[in-house]
Amino acid sequence: MPMYEYRCTECDRQFEAVQKFSDEPLKDCIYCGGTVKRLISLSSFHLKGSGWYVTDYARKKDDTRKAGQQGCDGKKKTCGGS
Ligand SMILES: [Zn+2]
Repeated sequence: MPMYEYRCTECDRQFEAVQKFSDEPLKDCIYCGGTVKRLISLSSFHLKGSGWYVTDYARKKDDTRKAGQQGCDGKKKTCGGS
């Protein structure tokens, strides 16, 4: 679930909220009830690793052991060498 950052335009405090994609953005400050604006939070987009196997390992259809081999980006010689 993504985490969103909000900043209140009234009291200028900032807070984070974990919401589903389908959830509507918050409108009220959790501190003062004022109007909040949603910020772009880079911290919620650390999705490295998911889909790593698509490019380099797509051809290895018979060896799709995703678990246990994560972190291998196919560029390091240490991966799959043994
Ligand atoms: Zn506020």
